[in-house]
Amino acid sequence: MRWDPAVTRERCTRLVQSLPAIEWITDSRVDRLSQDFNGFSPVLKRQLGHLRADVVVRPQTEDQIRAVVAACARESVPITLRGSGTGNYGQCVPLHGGVVIDLSAYNQLLWSRPGVGRAQAGIRMLEMDRQTPGWELRCVPSTWRSATLGGLFGGGFGGVGSINHGPLASPGNVLGVKVMSIEPEPQTFELRAPEAMLLHHVYGCNGLVLELEVALAPALPWLEAIVCFDSFDAALEFADVLAAAPGLVKKNVTLLAAPIPDLLLKAAPVLAGGMAPGSHAVFLLLAEYGEPALQQLVQASGGRISYRKTADEVRQGKRTIVEYTWNHTTLHALKVDPGLTYIQSSFEPGRHVEQAKALRKLLGDEVLVHLEFLRNLQGALTCAGLQLVRYRSDERLNEIMQIHREHGVAINNPHAFIVEDGKQSRINPEAVAIKRRFDPAGLLNPGKLRGWAPQHPPTAPVGL
Ligand SMILES: Cc1cc2nc3c(=O)[nH]c(=O)nc-3n(C[C@H](O)[C@H](O)[C@H](O)COP(=O)(O)OP(=O)(O)OC[C@H]3O[C@@H](n4cnc5c(N)ncnc54)[C@H](O)[C@@H]3O)c2cc1C
Repeated sequence: MRWDPAVTRERCTRLVQSLPAIEWITDSRVDRLSQDFNGFSPVLKRQLGHLRADVVVRPQTEDQIRAVVAACARESVPITLRGSGTGNYGQCVPLHGGVVIDLSAYNQLLWSRPGVGRAQAGIRMLEMDRQTPGWELRCVPSTWRSATLGGLFGGGFGGVGSINHGPLASPGNVLGVKVMSIEPEPQTFELRAPEAMLLHHVYGCNGLVLELEVALAPALPWLEAIVCFDSFDAALEFADVLAAAPGLVKKNVTLLAAPIPDLLLKAAPVLAGGMAPGSHAVFLLLAEYGEPALQQLVQASGGRISYRKTADEVRQGKRTIVEYTWNHTTLHALKVDPGLTYIQSSFEPGRHVEQAKALRKLLGDEVLVHLEFLRNLQGALTCAGLQLVRYRSDERLNEIMQIHREHGVAINNPHAFIVEDGKQSRINPEAVAIKRRFDPAGLLNPGKLRGWAPQHPPTAPVGL
């Protein structure tokens, strides 16, 4: 095996001793800082739950990051980059021990002007929004309170706001990044999009992103509402019409089919309002001035608004329904019913409503429908699924994903920890080439990029 655990441990001890001015973590916190939210998947939990770094380091400046990277490169120690560790696929879990570089203390907003901002990678997205008055990030995960901008770029997809701006990967959302190479004498480079996107969603395998320059959207006062329905079809059709309505400015539209709202209400009874048990619900964020038009739409579709908060009320109450959407739905549902897991899927624009109806009919209570409406990479309106699944076995989970594919619904497998086995589903030679440029010795997150493997045979992670 390329990484002998005893040798790596010894080298890590030398690293800590050689850079005493930097914050190193060697105590029991290493366990937590070596893991993320891969426990949503019983498959990943089994494969990754026991893996640990030898040491965690928390640099605060570019010079400190450079010193750590240089020392790791000299000692040939694996490096795993970490933002806040909210990823779901074990992206920041080291397969071969070594050093976790926690970038959360490298977190300054560098500048902003109307429509664009630049920050250090460890900035929390909520903090960036706070520091750019009148503007906000275009699409954020439901974890935006704690997750970092660098982590979204390295391992995320998009989320709230993707209904307007598509996923983060849509051209124009990310403008450029500053990257550090992993070498005994690390170099820094400014990459502009589209080249910068070769470092997106590759789990920190292709270079250490120091800074990101991203486009911003105007920050509006967002009304938060839940509309409930007795019929799944009516809820789905309402969500689709609302998502498409060009005059209604919105930030998020989520459909949660029964019994998901009942599960969420166990976690947060305060959301219940007038919602009857067994309802199907649409969670939405809409520009406040659009409320009269929303009410008309709700009336026409046979729904009822069961929960409503103005932007001021949301701010004062410190509770947002955003934290019940996207993978927060999964988080709350799994707490209430640990027998659940989930899948991730992308529906075909134009056929998404028909596909969702057909799959619900076919899979019944085994797959609980959770859809997020969004624009895809090309701008077409569709929905992404984060369906909850009653877990029976790995084989049945794979069958369910296959059934979705057979209905024309693409699967982004959340039960895989290798880049190409998850979202990208194919080896991208350009992404491999850029790894060669910025991580020539293959020290970054080894074992996660399959395309790197043919030239650099992979080794099994400890214990797998
Ligand atoms: C409850 C819940 C809800 C979620 N909802 C969403 C959602 O709506 N949309 C979504 O896209 N995701 C979602 N996620 C996943 C995750 O929260 C986001 O992708 C988030 O942006 C990750 O940020 P982080 O700082 O926690 O990154 P981490 O988990 O720390 O890192 C993610 C990946 O990025 C790499 N990385 C981190 N920093 C850098 C850097 N500076 N340079 C290079 N690589 C780096 C890491 O090595 C790792 O591979 C959710 C997760 C949970 C648990």
